[in-house]
Amino acid sequence: MTSSSGAGSGGGNRYGTGRDGFGGNRGNGGNRGNGGGDDSSLGPDARLHVVRFAPAKLNLTLAVLGKRDDGYHALHSVMAPLSLGDALTVSAPPPGATRDSLRVSGLPLPPDRDNLVLKAIIASRAAVATTWPGAPAFPPPLAARLAKRIPVAAGLGGGSSDAAAAIRAALAAWTASLQPPETMALASSLGSDVPFFLANSTALVTGRGEFVEPLPDIRGEPPAVLLVTPGLPLATQAVFKAYAGGTRVIDAGRAREISERLAADMRAGMTAASLLARAEDLASANDLQAATASIVPGLRAFMTALQKLLGRPVCQSGSGPTLWALYPTLIEARKAVRFVRLAAVNGTLPLLGAGEPFVGATTIAGRPTAPAEQFEGGVSGTVRPRSVHNWYDTDEPASGDPTEAQGDSKGDESR
Ligand code: C5P
Repeated sequence: MTSSSGAGSGGGNRYGTGRDGFGGNRGNGGNRGNGGGDDSSLGPDARLHVVRFAPAKLNLTLAVLGKRDDGYHALHSVMAPLSLGDALTVSAPPPGATRDSLRVSGLPLPPDRDNLVLKAIIASRAAVATTWPGAPAFPPPLAARLAKRIPVAAGLGGGSSDAAAAIRAALAAWTASLQPPETMALASSLGSDVPFFLANSTALVTGRGEFVEPLPDIRGEPPAVLLVTPGLPLATQAVFKAYAGGTRVIDAGRAREISERLAADMRAGMTAASLLARAEDLASANDLQAATASIVPGLRAFMTALQKLLGRPVCQSGSGPTLWALYPTLIEARKAVRFVRLAAVNGTLPLLGAGEPFVGATTIAGRPTAPAEQFEGGVSGTVRPRSVHNWYDTDEPASGDPTEAQGDSKGDESR
């Protein structure tokens, strides 16, 4: 499917300084090596083509410290990027296009105007409008393609990661730049998890998500992770609402204690073996767990059954419902994938929700440099054929206001 949004022009040839409006950006050798294992290539006659990897994340810990005056919750969370991720490509749109567009393949996700990729491109355009090389014209429209591999609305940060990737891709396409505080403010305006993904590193995240302290990489073979996402999407907002309504874990303060200790130990340098050794602690270091369980009937039983099946601690990522367990190696995590899938088929593991569960193995990526294709373990039954693309175009006229199509709802589709 494709969605289009106003790209900031009445059309025509108003954009930019190059022959195509891309800031004279073609034929300059491109933006290769622009961080995060990304690849950009702009050959003399090639179409503009910027690719960014958008990793999923795990909350190794998630302590809620209290409610803030702005309605958000103050957090203390150690977050780690995973090798599992989406791939975002932005290109110059077909000649004459006046709007940004988005096409999605892979896991089902409607590419509507609320998609954070489009919102991020629009917000980025507004942020660089006066400073990019083609000013005073607006940065031109972009055609975005998203290969979706991260389960949606699952606690894995997919939408937020896509937004961070879209900011980086759009700026690269327009050869535009922002100062770090401006970039962080832009990221924060799109969602609380977006600043974390800009850091491209394991990090301690505080505030509502706007303070990101990168932590040293875990030493040794990257810990492997089994991901099990029950087949039902969950809105972050609903979980925080349940939490605010009083559904709390019994041992208040424990998640914070574990989170602070983990952050301190990681700051000093931590081995994979030492992270694995504290898996039991991590399983009780998510303050949202009770709130999530209160709005997903059966989740607690599912978690208990999974824990019994695996014989190791099972943790919740973010607001859920994704559950995860650590393994020393990817081979062992892959074995667990097969085991869980079998248990789901033969009924040992009760199914939750109407959809099929996503079951996969991946690794903690530290500083993700892997192309999305490196995801190991696959997806159980939910991937659409990659050649099928459904397109959706809005009929509204293109707008001269670069922020018009941004809307006011913030994406929380996949924390
Ligand atoms: O920031 P984002 O739009 O992703 O957050 C979705 C919802 O989750 C917010 O509207 C808010 O209700 C809740 N939230 C919160 N505290 C945070 C992050 C999110 O209360 N730190």
